[in-house]
Amino acid sequence: MKKNCFSIGICFFALCAITLSASAQESSWHEQRTLRLDFYHAGDAASECYWFDELVEEPYWAGSENSLVDSTDFGGQQFRIVDPESGTILYKRGYNTLFNEWQTVDEARTMKKAMPESVRFPWPKEKVLLQIFARDKKNRWSKRYEQLIDPASPYIRRFSPRYETFEVFYNGEPAHKIDVVLIPEGYSAEEKEAFKKACDNFVKSLFSYTPYRENRSKFNVRAVWAPSEESGVTLPGEGIWRRTVTGASFYTFGVERYQMIEDQQRLAEIAAHVPYEYVYVLSNTQKYGGGGIYNFYGISSANHPSSTGAVYVHEFGHLFAGLGDEYVGGVAYNDLYPQGVEPWEANLTTLTDFKSKEWSRMLDPKTPVPTPLDPAQADLLGVYEGGGYVSKGVYRPLPNCLMNNLHTTDRFCPVCEQTIRRQIEFLCR
Ligand SMILES: [Zn+2]
Repeated sequence: MKKNCFSIGICFFALCAITLSASAQESSWHEQRTLRLDFYHAGDAASECYWFDELVEEPYWAGSENSLVDSTDFGGQQFRIVDPESGTILYKRGYNTLFNEWQTVDEARTMKKAMPESVRFPWPKEKVLLQIFARDKKNRWSKRYEQLIDPASPYIRRFSPRYETFEVFYNGEPAHKIDVVLIPEGYSAEEKEAFKKACDNFVKSLFSYTPYRENRSKFNVRAVWAPSEESGVTLPGEGIWRRTVTGASFYTFGVERYQMIEDQQRLAEIAAHVPYEYVYVLSNTQKYGGGGIYNFYGISSANHPSSTGAVYVHEFGHLFAGLGDEYVGGVAYNDLYPQGVEPWEANLTTLTDFKSKEWSRMLDPKTPVPTPLDPAQADLLGVYEGGGYVSKGVYRPLPNCLMNNLHTTDRFCPVCEQTIRRQIEFLCR
């Protein structure tokens, strides 16, 4: 290999020059701060619409210059920032929302509802078009919202900080790292030290699992000390209500362990105190539970006696890599993965278009599809029936994975692991 050093060196410098010029071109349209669109995501089981709320200036932009346009096609929703003259996509992200989950529960068949949401993008120097796309029943994208955004508008609200912040785990400049912000839920003003301890424990736990462990130097973790009026968490099913800073609640959609936050704008307003790309909420409770939604937020209990760390890594899998749940049952959703439609999640298939997935190319050609469960071959990558909350018609890559029963394994299946690695590579490009 050594004799090729010189030519590799030349190629490396040529590559650098190309990368630099591409990045200079890409970055020329925006500044190093964030513009946030706050809106209401509303509708019922059969329809959805988007109502403008306001534009907000946030002080930091934490993303990489070279990963502005996401190419994964993950997410049930997607937003794009487009140059209005050329039609060039300048920024693109897929994401999921709690509202879209609500659309699949029984209640959505008989009532309409709105949830506050937001999307964030680099502050444009000139006018840009913001477009929101959603998937139709066949998982094809259709444009649902469009707005011309003028960064010179005097009506863009300036963010005013109100909380103190601290670094938990720092590895370098935000543009070159994946930036996570931790937000406290249900910690009173007297419980700052307990929150700090929970932050340290989050870092210790998350980065003890492959592939985060090997990539820990690619992450920054910061925290915003936003105390709650009252200590503890809201449990409507048990008649317990607390005045807390994020307004999180267990019993979301009638599922006891599902602790979620309906007002995502509240989180964005707290998170904006630091440079960030991913929001994770640490909940001051011993009660088992939480949730994570792709490119939206994650939340879980910080004090569960035995599975705090495993839940962090599971929910972060949803938040960071859009991984689907590989288990069966336990939710209120109806027909979340309909037959005849290939899920966009990398680790679930209905076998409608399995060959479109990287997973299909990772299989040993001798492995039968679907793959029968064989206790003697628990590590065999295959296509096992049962996943996405249902026992029939949806398939998972391995008998068990951290996205399945996190109490009985401490690792991801090869498909989930690969998806997380790819996401890390993309964001640190
Ligand atoms: Zn998996």
